[in-house]
Amino acid sequence: MPKAIVCACEDVTLEEVGRAFASGQRDLESVKRYTGLGTGPCQGKSCLALVARELLRLGATPGEVTPFTVRPPLQPTSLAALASLDPAALPLESPSPPALPPARPPAPRPLPARARVVIVGGGIMGLGLAWNLCRRGETDVVVLESGYLNAGASGRNGGGVRAQWSTPTLIRLGRRSLELCRRFAVELGINVWFRRGGYLFLAPDAGQAARVEQSVRVHRANGLDTRLLAPAEAREIVPELDARRFVAASWNPDDAVVFPWPFLWGYAAGAEALGARVAPFTRVVGLEASGRRLTAVVTDRGRIQAGTVVNAAGAWSGEVAALAGVKLPSWPVRHEILVTDAWKAWLGPLVSVLGSGLYFSQSLRGELVGGLGDPAEPRGLRSGSSPRFPARFARALLEVLPAAGALHLVRQWAGCYDLTPDNNPLLGAAGLDNFLQLSGFVGHGFMMAPAVTEAMAAWMTGGPADEIFERFTVERFTRGHLVREDWIIG
Ligand SMILES: Cc1cc2nc3c(=O)[nH]c(=O)nc-3n(C[C@H](O)[C@H](O)[C@H](O)COP(=O)(O)OP(=O)(O)OC[C@H]3O[C@@H](n4cnc5c(N)ncnc54)[C@H](O)[C@@H]3O)c2cc1C
Repeated sequence: MPKAIVCACEDVTLEEVGRAFASGQRDLESVKRYTGLGTGPCQGKSCLALVARELLRLGATPGEVTPFTVRPPLQPTSLAALASLDPAALPLESPSPPALPPARPPAPRPLPARARVVIVGGGIMGLGLAWNLCRRGETDVVVLESGYLNAGASGRNGGGVRAQWSTPTLIRLGRRSLELCRRFAVELGINVWFRRGGYLFLAPDAGQAARVEQSVRVHRANGLDTRLLAPAEAREIVPELDARRFVAASWNPDDAVVFPWPFLWGYAAGAEALGARVAPFTRVVGLEASGRRLTAVVTDRGRIQAGTVVNAAGAWSGEVAALAGVKLPSWPVRHEILVTDAWKAWLGPLVSVLGSGLYFSQSLRGELVGGLGDPAEPRGLRSGSSPRFPARFARALLEVLPAAGALHLVRQWAGCYDLTPDNNPLLGAAGLDNFLQLSGFVGHGFMMAPAVTEAMAAWMTGGPADEIFERFTVERFTRGHLVREDWIIG
């Protein structure tokens, strides 16, 4: 059958746009995330008008075809050129105007008047929990998402999934998530591009090397196949690395990388097929309480009486908790990420440099995807892109991988980490008996979600209570029972 291509960069056809529309994706941001269009080197310049016209022809309203957010740079720019810039002279602020919020499509049907479980936030946590609850027979579930699916950190992350952590609890959760990610495509009928290329952590100095040695011992004691490598051995895995830049490495071949977007479509469709309701473009604006219990969730589309309310709003979870008068010990911080043009397939693992926090992996199409935290980043819900980030990233990358200078930055974007004082999540009841927290996952919530939402659904439906619901309560901060996780990519 002939294909009518609308997005030549990503090979998206007119038929796929039609399928996205038929499945309920009416606005351009949602269609972009459903099909992948507009994410290639041309940044949507060649497909946007055509797709907008097609959506209007199919029945979308003019408000729904608000153009999607354009990401820097305007032109693909070589990493060598970016590395020659002085990051200190570049601003952390975004020079571009804030994106127009996509117009809210009409609700396909009214919200239910009541539900046993109302989940605030349709990221991987909220949707994963909904699906797992339904599988355990609790199908009276509503997920409320203020934007389009994939609007939050779950649609903006690097897709890294690993079991290399410093505590037995996170190692166990990471292993379980890897197993669930491996089965996801078969169980939920959607390709998540699961690629088991391992994680390679590089230690640039003796201090980090000592950390790596200690961690490898913990990993092996907890059933991982992690190996401690000398620089020459690490170069056997990634020959392009400059071995003068690190003194040791740790390598777990079972760690993996996935493509995040289809996870959300998979969980959402799976949960809805079992009876849950997923309501995008529905913002929670109030939480009503009586005594020690929440009674209802108020949204900009109506009010729902709720048996249990779960706060899965990620970096916005503090704002949502405040609607119930609850203060969470967490805060949002922007984290930036970028993608380059495609290279030959050459990179197996996700590589990360301990200390600096640089990380990069290669997608199945050959693009390099990578990020780097910035210690100067202030707290706050900011998701614009800064000119400083690509310069810092390019410098850090070319130090360990000089050949990458020939690559071009094609797109950068950002999302927010949801930070806590000990880098561990906030789980279980906080402030009110039926107000459950599922937040505080710093920069590793995507990989934790399959395992944590499985365990949370079991706990909420009377199944076994995982130790994480004791260990990661909000009260731990007042009791002083903290367990720091230091193996984060900051
Ligand atoms: C750039 C970047 C790279 C990352 N890389 C990785 C990685 O490689 N591996 C990994 O495991 N993790 C990574 N992370 C972290 C990971 O993305 C998050 O921990 C995870 O996605 C959190 O999921 P969530 O469902 O809790 O939050 P989110 O996905 O942010 O979902 C919360 C949702 O709540 C919605 N919401 C907010 N307020 C309201 C309201 N009032 N009413 C209704 N809905 C509301 C938001 O719109 C949002 O969609 C990265 C994060 C970023 C930003």
